[in-house]
Amino acid sequence: MMGFCIFAATQCLSALKEQKRGLRRFEFTEPHMGTMFKIVFYASDESSALKASRAAFNRIAGLDHIMSDYLPSSELMRLSERAGGPPTRISDDLYGVMSTAQEIAQKSDGAFDITIGPVVRLWRRARRQHELPEPARLAQALELVGHEKLRLDAKARTAQLLKPGMLLDLGGIAKGYAADETLRVLKGYGIDRALVAAGGDIAVGEPPPDMEGNGWTIAVASLDSPAQRPKRYVALHNAGISTSGDLEQHVEINGTRYSHIVDPKSGRAITGRVSVTVIAPDDTTADALATAVCVLGLERGLKLIQSIPETRALICQAKNSELQCSDWRFPATRDQSHDSPVCDATSENGIPTRIMESVVHLQRADAYCRRCCVVACGERRCAKDRFLSDRRRRRSLR
Ligand code: ADP
Ligand code: MG
Repeated sequence: MMGFCIFAATQCLSALKEQKRGLRRFEFTEPHMGTMFKIVFYASDESSALKASRAAFNRIAGLDHIMSDYLPSSELMRLSERAGGPPTRISDDLYGVMSTAQEIAQKSDGAFDITIGPVVRLWRRARRQHELPEPARLAQALELVGHEKLRLDAKARTAQLLKPGMLLDLGGIAKGYAADETLRVLKGYGIDRALVAAGGDIAVGEPPPDMEGNGWTIAVASLDSPAQRPKRYVALHNAGISTSGDLEQHVEINGTRYSHIVDPKSGRAITGRVSVTVIAPDDTTADALATAVCVLGLERGLKLIQSIPETRALICQAKNSELQCSDWRFPATRDQSHDSPVCDATSENGIPTRIMESVVHLQRADAYCRRCCVVACGERRCAKDRFLSDRRRRRSLR
């Protein structure tokens, strides 16, 4: 009872503080880029919040039309169609994301490579048909892969794909870029206390008003606790945090688990269980690095992170059924297992806590906060839509 009073008083105080600043918390979600985008921010009134969120989602939809490899009409696909041809002038967004991708391709010795498209296509089909790609076709596709076969010209703002048949895939970086850009759009509306989560790719701006000097609270699910609720929490502001791994998207063929992340050197989907969380000054970088480290594995991955200033990582991988975890400057994590807002909500929306917990336990069933779960500024409640989407997802899993 005493604890509750203290909790209530704290909540009251922080609400008062916010009122004094004239700021209210707003949350919006929309599906884009094959995942759920969640935007949380503080604004003075509802009408400006609605306006800003509309502009933010429009920006994300616009970026999807540029960067999608599912939409044949996207700028990316039209560029790929010209593979083997002369340099093509591209938009600033496409240029921006591709130049960061090329930088990380070089730094990671080609572990991150957006020319991976032809190989990814084969593995996508393998996932659908539960059959490994034919080695001959894989070898053929691999001939078209290599970041050195993609030329960018910073002055002319052009891109050139040197071999016919090449296919670009921004799946490992586009969501991070979109999260960063969404923060930028919100800033243009005077909103800088914001968080944007695109599944496991999260960009955060200034902290919430009641978390000054601290940050947004992000729960990090990793391989060492897949069956429990998240143990690690980081408080972040003005940064990007991304998790990659095989926890969510994979296929099991002949008893081996194949991830949706592919090693560009061998053309093989990665098979060892792995989960990598990277923190960087922006989420474009964090997103790409997390994918790269999954390919490189613990030791080489750690070296890559250590070679890039201002990046931090938590890497977990299973080797011979043993779990190895290593971190580099990963912020002190807080164990909030007793007051985790992800798990401790009561039967809000009529879903019993027990079921919600089991949804959180099964990371793959966590509909859109996926492997990184946004706890959103320490509030003791969960977004209604998260639970609804969890429920929908559970239905579809049956
Ligand atoms: P998610 O998209 O689930 O957040 P990632 O950020 O790790 O996960 O991106 C994985 C996606 O990136 C794959 O679905 C594929 O489209 C693409 N991809 C796979 N392997 C690589 C690679 N080695 N380098 C760059 N992109 C890759
Ligand atoms: Mg990525």
